[in-house]
Amino acid sequence: MKIARTIEDLSTYKKELGEGKFAYVPTMGALHEGHLSLVQLAKEKADHVIVSIFVNPTQFAPHEDFDSYPRMEEKDARMLEEEEVDILFVPNESVMYPDGKNSTIKAGDAAEGLETTFRPHFFDGVVNIVSRLFWAVKPDVAIFGQKDFQQLQVIIQMVEDQNMGIEIIGAPIARDESGLALSSRNLYLSAEELPIARQLNVILREAAKTGNLEEAEQKLLGIGFDKVDYVASRWNRILGAAWLGKTRLIDNVASE
Ligand code: AMP
Repeated sequence: MKIARTIEDLSTYKKELGEGKFAYVPTMGALHEGHLSLVQLAKEKADHVIVSIFVNPTQFAPHEDFDSYPRMEEKDARMLEEEEVDILFVPNESVMYPDGKNSTIKAGDAAEGLETTFRPHFFDGVVNIVSRLFWAVKPDVAIFGQKDFQQLQVIIQMVEDQNMGIEIIGAPIARDESGLALSSRNLYLSAEELPIARQLNVILREAAKTGNLEEAEQKLLGIGFDKVDYVASRWNRILGAAWLGKTRLIDNVASE
């Protein structure tokens, strides 16, 4: 596996790999089985696989966890090497934002509501970094997790609106044995918080059966979530976001 830190190195390593289809998996690192399931899907869809790790400052608000977001590049690189990833792209901020973050694009209407109500700048930050990463990597296919379901819709819309000609594939949510959606932020959960976190998917599944979203919010608060940002129905999914202490968890399940 080659590690590219600049767009020039990335292009060189791509050329060395020669002909064939390139699949791309963007991540913010602190990799877990969920990320690896995206890599495995990427391998099925293309001849070569590129993964990036970049903790994108523009999608974090000043009070959010940008500084404390887990960073473990060496461990991540070993995991990706084992998955036989061809290129790991690890740019720094000046590679991704040579303009000092001045030139920006806006997320489309898939970004309205849900996450945006609580994180108003989040999806603009996401489309800015993902479009820049797409120009750098120039993949044929890119894989995103359904875990971040609204994000997936925003990316699909961006690629269509800008005729980027990249196929976007949504990968199923990887969960632990209790059904908790795997997330880098699960590393923040204490031993007391973990069993509560594990109820999020259970309560969303119940809401998918009963259609009672208000009841689901009350149940989440009742079992120990400190705050519920939303439980909502959209795109034939029930989506939820809730806080446990300083940790914000999101998840979604299919509507029934
Ligand atoms: P992140 O590093 O959290 O920005 O996530 C990078 C990619 O992995 C995004 O497309 C996420 O939706 C996806 N992802 C994160 N967690 C999971 C999961 N548990 N199952 C499937 N995809 C995931």
